[in-house]
This record gives sequence, C-alpha cells and structure tokens, in this order.
Amino acid sequence: MTVSYAKDFHEIPESLKNNSSLKRKALDLVQYEPIAGKVTAGGSRLDDFREVLIDFFDLKIDLDAAILETERKLDRRFSMYSGDNRVFPSGWAERLVRTQVSRFYNQAVLESIIESGSDDCFVEHSANEQGSSRCSQQLAGTTQSASVMLQRLKSSYGDGNWGRDLKLPEHPHCTHTFSPVA
Ligand SMILES: [Zn+2]
Repeated sequence: MTVSYAKDFHEIPESLKNNSSLKRKALDLVQYEPIAGKVTAGGSRLDDFREVLIDFFDLKIDLDAAILETERKLDRRFSMYSGDNRVFPSGWAERLVRTQVSRFYNQAVLESIIESGSDDCFVEHSANEQGSSRCSQQLAGTTQSASVMLQRLKSSYGDGNWGRDLKLPEHPHCTHTFSPVA
C-alpha cells in the first residue's frame, strides 16, 4: 500500500516520497517558520539547522545523517550556551532533530487539512509509542481539531511558549503523527 500520510514518525520519509504536495509544504515551512530553542541561538546556527532540515525533507539525507550533520554544524563548543547541560543534555542533536522533524511534518499535515476545508485530524496508535506517555494515553486513537493542534504546535515549537496542553510532538521521542480523516 502506498503511504501518503505517515502513521508513525518512521514513515515520514516514505510519505514525503509519495506525497509531493506535502513535501513541498514541509520544505516551505522549514525555510521561514520560527524554531524555538537555545541550541539554535546565535551566529548562523539557525540557518545552518534549517539547511539540515531542508536536506532531510528534500530526501537527500536520512534521519541518522541529519543528526550527525546537526552535531557537526551546530557544534556545542561554539554556542553561547556551551556550558549549559540543560541546553545540551546528552543526545541533544537527536532530540532537536526528532522534535523539529516531527513538528514540521505534523505542521504541514495540519495546514493541508485546514486548507482542504476540514478541521479533523486523526492520531493513530504508533507501533513504537511509549505506553506511559500522555500522547499515547490521551491522543492516540482520537480525532482532534486541526486548528487547535496547529495553534499549540506553533506556539510551543515555533515561539517557545511551552504549555501543558496536549500536542504533537508531545516529547522528543514522540512517534505519533496526524493524518486527515478519510
Ligand atoms: Zn507521542
């Protein structure tokens, strides 16, 4: 079966391959939407990170390569927060890449749903979900309002206003995704 919407984080590259309008939208968003966080603050760090995300969403590199590129281009030693282990916990590059890949993929899906005139987005249970996470318990298997989910996603991952409201991605290793309701 052709995957045009990912049922799971790991299906994102396949869905981009099969869904050129979604891919175009994600690539568009990656270039200008704000990205919150101290890891990308200062110098050309944000632009450098956008380049990595563009290569990922353009299917030029896979997730592992995107993580390695982020570690290299956003070298911790050159950050103004290099001494801060809360900004750079172990695995920071993986957390940053996974979070923003999920964020931009899901933002593209939500905007597509809204542009199509619908407000329904479905969250599938993921084979890789952490059963203890709030998203597994309260979002998976449900239909949500695309406009509410989009607003929370942009406010958190774009503007850095972290709230307690349920959203996707819910945490850096969240594997849930939105899809349109057929
Ligand atoms: Zn999740």
